[in-house]
Amino acid sequence: MNANPIQGQGTSPQAWKASQRLAQVADVDCTQLVPEGSRAVIIAPHPDDEVLGSGGLLQLLARAQRQILLISVTDGAASHPGSGYWTPQRLSIVRPQESADALKRLGLPPSQVQWVHGGFPDTGVAAAEVALREFLKTYLQPSDVVFATWREDGHADHEAVGRAALSAALECGARAHEIPIWAWHWASPEDPRIPWERARKLQLDKWMQARKRHAIQAFASQLYEDPDTGHEPVLSSTAVERLQQPFEVVFL
Ligand SMILES: [Zn+2]
Repeated sequence: MNANPIQGQGTSPQAWKASQRLAQVADVDCTQLVPEGSRAVIIAPHPDDEVLGSGGLLQLLARAQRQILLISVTDGAASHPGSGYWTPQRLSIVRPQESADALKRLGLPPSQVQWVHGGFPDTGVAAAEVALREFLKTYLQPSDVVFATWREDGHADHEAVGRAALSAALECGARAHEIPIWAWHWASPEDPRIPWERARKLQLDKWMQARKRHAIQAFASQLYEDPDTGHEPVLSSTAVERLQQPFEVVFL
């Protein structure tokens, strides 16, 4: 993986719509992925990944009446380095609040969702990978189905979360799947680095798509220019559009 493949505008949403490879990815049913009696464990590196990568999956799980454990690994305090407005302290409070608001916007019944905050350092997950794996193991049960960010997603925290989650799941006897998020930015539409044979689509109806769009708007700290530094939004409108396809992709 390149040192920093997340630069510029990335692959356009239109290019993904024209991708033959993506068009050929088969569907999977959420109830097949998470059988009755199993709990889904969503592991998000930063507050917003749970919605960007799996805002549809969360709704499908809720509709199928599955129990959900959401583990937010970091508080996202490092998204605006050097900003006098978005200081790490402010971000560490605001970003988890944005996640809470987004989960409400998705319409998830609170009785079905348990939420754990890991408190691992934003941009420092790789250095704490062993501790993260041990932390995850204290929560995982053999009947769980884990969804983590892809081990090759192109962002160091996402990759470390993917590796730690997969190894924790393996040790606990739980199944694990991976979700690409930043790959939609750096990969090309027919990219051979994407594990297409493991890819499956979760189809979202128009209401689920609308709630996901609404939920993404809760992440205001990421969606607007920094009022202090004038830096562009962390999530550009292109990035947001790219993550609002009528389906989500999971690697089996
Ligand atoms: Zn992230």
